[in-house]
Amino acid sequence: AKENGRNNYQFFTTELNTRAVQRHTLKRNLRRAVERREFGLQYQARIDLQTGKLVGAEALLRWHHPEHGLMMPMQFIPIAEESGMIGTIGQWVLREACIQAQAWHQSGLPLLPISVNISPAEFRNKEFLPNLAGILEETALPPHSLELELTESVLLQNAETIAITLHDLKDMGVQLSIDDFGTGYHNLSYLKHFPIDALKIDQSFVHDVNDDTDDATIVRAIVSMADSLKLRTIAEGVETTEHLAFLQALQCSEGQGYFFGRPVDADEFLTILERGETP
Ligand code: C2E
Ligand code: CA
Ligand code: CA
Ligand code: CA
Repeated sequence: AKENGRNNYQFFTTELNTRAVQRHTLKRNLRRAVERREFGLQYQARIDLQTGKLVGAEALLRWHHPEHGLMMPMQFIPIAEESGMIGTIGQWVLREACIQAQAWHQSGLPLLPISVNISPAEFRNKEFLPNLAGILEETALPPHSLELELTESVLLQNAETIAITLHDLKDMGVQLSIDDFGTGYHNLSYLKHFPIDALKIDQSFVHDVNDDTDDATIVRAIVSMADSLKLRTIAEGVETTEHLAFLQALQCSEGQGYFFGRPVDADEFLTILERGETP
């Protein structure tokens, strides 16, 4: 048993070392990924729950790593954040999403609002606002068709500074939504002071909404509060007809999730866009 314990320990430290080395390597790889065009965006439909029509798309980042293959954001966004590369990557995402939205529009399709995730570190950067203004100008995308998804942690800083930035963004004309709403343990008074347009109800509440009375209560409360504050609500992680029925009954404005469609590459999303709804 003793020997076994030692082996476990060795296994554990080796594992830790391997992870540290992997992290370090990934960090170096990330630095080159933008130039080497290894990033891509997938798009997921956002659906009006009353009409079933397509009302937007969320851009989701993918990394096609030359050795590891497809990497999901959770595997590299934290590394990009801690190593200060999120700014460059976020810029790429914003530009690419705006270019794509504009390309779809130019090809004769209705202008589809596109949502982009903004990480707190990116948002905090002084260059964020001027860079965004530059991208909007360069791509000539009407600002109201860009929606920035911010997490509550973004709002956890100096309220005055945040309010100024958010108002500047609203003046530019972009839409603002709070992502993963309900998971942030945040004092909700910010909803009164900040110019927010929509709340995205976190998928952890939606998942068991038909079986778990606590989750159902939370979702009901969020939708009702959003209604009073004149905010749109977008339910994440809609996977079943039961989810859909529950949310429709509540008059939740929009839904997103595997029930309507998984995130797909731009060329595949084009067919959804042409149809104006999901299959
Ligand atoms: P998120 O913003 O909450 O995005 C929703 C995530 O849920 C996406 O995972 C999406 O693929 C997944 N999803 C969609 N529908 C369903 C469903 O019905 N069921 C389940 N179980 N999952 C569903 P993904 O693409 O792996 O992204 C994970 C997170 O990474 C995102 O969470 C977002 O926080 C972050 N992220 C993605 N793209 C970017 C980006 O360009 N920049 C930054 N800063 N963060 C990003
Ligand atoms: Ca999001
Ligand atoms: Ca989310
Ligand atoms: Ca999430």
